Amino acid sequence: MFGLPTFPKLLIIAAIIAAVWYFMRRGKVARGEQDSRVGDRTNGAKANGKAQKPIEDMVQCKSCGAYFPAKSGCSCGQSGN
Ligand SMILES: [Zn+2]
Repeated sequence: MFGLPTFPKLLIIAAIIAAVWYFMRRGKVARGEQDSRVGDRTNGAKANGKAQKPIEDMVQCKSCGAYFPAKSGCSCGQSGN
């Protein structure tokens, strides 16, 4: 009987999609954290006395999901636009 999907089935499908999305996102975030950590270390060494950071507009890359300054473009080579 193929009627409307039952509610438990919908829950399972949603859980699978959420899990896949979560792990994909987690992998990208982990990579981004490593990159930003290296950047923070170099920035911290330079601006040890002055904690002044230029505030830039951050946009999310549509292809890789990473956040990057709107002016410079994403490191994956795709511009946000
Ligand atoms: Zn990108």
